[in-house]
Amino acid sequence: MVFDIDTAVALLEQEVRTYQVPVVDLIAAQTRDPFKVLVATILSARTRDEVTAAAARRLFARAETPDGLAALDRKTLEKIIYPVGFFRNKARYLAALPGVLEREFQGRVPDTVEALTRLPGVGRKTANLVVAVAFNKPAICVDTHVHRIMNIWGYVHTRTPLQTEMALREKLPQRYWIRINSLLVAFGQGTCRPQRPRCDRCVLAAMCPRIGVTPAGSAVRAAPVADGRLRMVSWNVNGLRAALKKGFLDTLHEFDADIFAVQEIKAMPEQLPPEVKNIPGYHVYWNPAQKKGYAGTAVFCRNRPLAVVHGTGREEPDSEGRVLVLEYDDFFLINSYFPNAGPGLRRLEFKLSFNRAMLALMDRLSEKKSVVLCGDLNVAHREIDLANPADNVNNPGFSAPERAWMDELVGAGYVDTFRHFNQEPEHYTWWSYRFNARARNIGWRIDYFIVDPGSRDRVHAAAIHDEVPGSDHCPVSIEFG
Ligand code: SF4
Repeated sequence: MVFDIDTAVALLEQEVRTYQVPVVDLIAAQTRDPFKVLVATILSARTRDEVTAAAARRLFARAETPDGLAALDRKTLEKIIYPVGFFRNKARYLAALPGVLEREFQGRVPDTVEALTRLPGVGRKTANLVVAVAFNKPAICVDTHVHRIMNIWGYVHTRTPLQTEMALREKLPQRYWIRINSLLVAFGQGTCRPQRPRCDRCVLAAMCPRIGVTPAGSAVRAAPVADGRLRMVSWNVNGLRAALKKGFLDTLHEFDADIFAVQEIKAMPEQLPPEVKNIPGYHVYWNPAQKKGYAGTAVFCRNRPLAVVHGTGREEPDSEGRVLVLEYDDFFLINSYFPNAGPGLRRLEFKLSFNRAMLALMDRLSEKKSVVLCGDLNVAHREIDLANPADNVNNPGFSAPERAWMDELVGAGYVDTFRHFNQEPEHYTWWSYRFNARARNIGWRIDYFIVDPGSRDRVHAAAIHDEVPGSDHCPVSIEFG
């Protein structure tokens, strides 16, 4: 079926009239100043619109022109624009911007994509947006919303935003080029959201093929894996008894996994009902914490392992039931629940000591056969792995020592399987229960499947299942063969 783009755009023009206007469009409409549009666009990358608008206001109060910007040093700029995402990098770009504008463009903002991409911190997406919004010239800015929604509609079939831009240049009528970004950004934030799009209230519901979409309210249904491969799932259930009331068993059956590892079970097996202890077709191994209602891990598996080891042999983490190791013919599975560094980083030393023990364990086991580590590592590795990195510098889960351990792990050749396949932002596995964070996708990616360096090619797919409700974390999975 051919997607009717004219009808879609007409319906969306009506629909988004009541939505919030994207910040860059707002600044363009208010100022009609290419310099301000360029600066606001640089500030807006990976930053919520409210934060961008406030930072732009503070900055323009001090520097309205390239000359004004040149008078501010990098440290001052950092203070003014904080907490926009990647504020240090952006301050560096802004500090360099007046010099490049002066040297190469006689102090004026250029009006072509090619020229704009010569400016510090300006990629194709930013350049297209500036050309379209500041100069009102035909250009297509493809951000994650445009890329995602165009593929959902089947209007393009592309893997990257650049491919989408090129496909749209061929296909999208030019009269829509300038407008399409702000339309789809507003629509993508309000209705066709990355997580659980509201198809139930969408004006395009009757005409949208919904390619690759799991709408709000539906659960996962896993596709079969190829012969000889194993589907492995890991999920911090944040209390197995609570998760059981929210459909845990349905989720487990729908995944149809060979290995289903859970963390933070917060229960002794004797506190659990028989239906979760005797699941037809699965063996189950428990490692609860000694303290009631706290931590603990378990693994449900179709095949009986050769051996099961509870813990790492160290007293304190083992009393919290944080590690279960299952040995199979050609791999070890380590199901792990890493400690939280705690408020004020009070448990940081304990966590780092646990981290070191885990890396030593992985090194030791990987000398014998493949190692698959899964679980809640309680750390977002890079800025791309959480929605608000600038707000969380040195908070538990994003402190420099915790991130340095991830650097060490990856530096030693261990593979963060999700990032092996996907470099896109806005993929998270945990959201606070507060501030409507999950609906707004203000999250963190802290649940992982990691494999040893020699097993990279055994991983055929890795996914985050953020559509699955039932916990403040969502499941993650790999296909391993
Ligand atoms: S029907 Fe659903 S997937 Fe399609 S555009 Fe609307 S919200 Fe997005």
